[in-house]
Amino acid sequence: MTVICRFAPSPTGRLHVGNVRTALMNWLFVRERGGKFILRIDDTDLERSTNEYEDGIKEDLGWLGLNWDHSFNQSHKFPAYEAAAKTLREAGRLYACYETSDELDRQRKLLRVQSKPPIYNRAALELTEAQIKAYEDEGRKPHWRFKLSGKTVHWNDMVRGEQSVDTSSLSDPVLIRGDGSFLYTLPSVVDDIDEKITHVIRGEDHVTNSGAQIEIFEALSDHLPVFAHTPLLVWKDGSPLSKRLGSLSMGELKEQGFEPLAICSLLAKIGTSDPIEVRPSMEVLKDEFSFDKIGRAPARFSDDELLLLNGRLLHETSYETVKDHLESLNVGGGEAFWNLIRANISKVSDTAGWSTVLFAPMPGQIEDEDKAFCISAANCLPDKITDETWSEWTGKLKAEQGRKGKSLFMPLRRALTGRDRGPEMGGLLVLLGAEKAKARLRGETA
Ligand code: GLU
Repeated sequence: MTVICRFAPSPTGRLHVGNVRTALMNWLFVRERGGKFILRIDDTDLERSTNEYEDGIKEDLGWLGLNWDHSFNQSHKFPAYEAAAKTLREAGRLYACYETSDELDRQRKLLRVQSKPPIYNRAALELTEAQIKAYEDEGRKPHWRFKLSGKTVHWNDMVRGEQSVDTSSLSDPVLIRGDGSFLYTLPSVVDDIDEKITHVIRGEDHVTNSGAQIEIFEALSDHLPVFAHTPLLVWKDGSPLSKRLGSLSMGELKEQGFEPLAICSLLAKIGTSDPIEVRPSMEVLKDEFSFDKIGRAPARFSDDELLLLNGRLLHETSYETVKDHLESLNVGGGEAFWNLIRANISKVSDTAGWSTVLFAPMPGQIEDEDKAFCISAANCLPDKITDETWSEWTGKLKAEQGRKGKSLFMPLRRALTGRDRGPEMGGLLVLLGAEKAKARLRGETA
């Protein structure tokens, strides 16, 4: 059996970490099995969907490396949804309702006062021809509800195990609005049937939809995908992500300098039994992915963790890989500079600061009590600097000046870089060169 999955975003905003995690799980699952990954653009809401957002979604997925085999728009498929609605109507599973939203509100309030669940009372099923005509004469347009069976729907969820939804505890869902537009529920099922989707992988906010959707699948075909509902993503302190989604959009994370593989590594690992580590490639993430590893608790997203993984990824990244990025930031210094600096950065853009330290004129920073020591150090620094110079030089200074540890190394680091922490000094000294190093050790600007 070929595995076929789909990611179905609505083009009403940029992708954020929550929906990227869903896309990623679909992608990892499909690619591991040599299956097909379909991008479905859920743009039935013509007012809120835009081409810009659709393009943005495609750009973000491409940037992340989540390639798809084919994509389509729901807005091009209205005839198929109309046909499905006709089938359901003919089977007595889709019925017209004329209540206004105010009337429905009032009904719900009344039920609540009586401590009853706010389930739609199916009054529309009892309407006489005359009542229907009266509503239509008033100008009311019907909305259409799917008639649930009232039975309990069962499925075996790949993440949640045995699931059941008692459809008698649900209101019959509205599938078509009064203006004739389709809500998400029916088009999604029609497309999952048409595309022969084998696995529906999505967030657990869709668990209740699955009860109704399984009944719609059964009413329209003999095709039924397997479901996997993944726990929601929450902020690191357990609060909902909703308020932060703007700053957690792919556009924003890209702008902030996060690497796609760091984002995918974090999103593939949080909420699973695997350690949270950056992985060297999407291939590796794919090989390690399994629904068995996904826990039931919400997955916590942490920006600190993302920054950490981003840094770890860069520590292992070759010059070839970042060359263009460095050039776009106007950071020179070539491969030797990158190899020296990569262990000390969290983002590629952090190289700019180190490039200034190494290559721009800067006065040596020296405390009064270290001045004489630094001048001696300048005097005994050889003119030709090699990979061994740092250890030979500091060994000599240690013997001659009686300094060791921090009091030996810190004044040198500060004089040469102006910072207390940074890359390995041996390599840094080579890049800096004898002339610049000596000048800075004497407190001059070089
Ligand atoms: N457009 C829906 C959403 O983003 C798709 C849900 C589904 O995967 O069925 O929530």
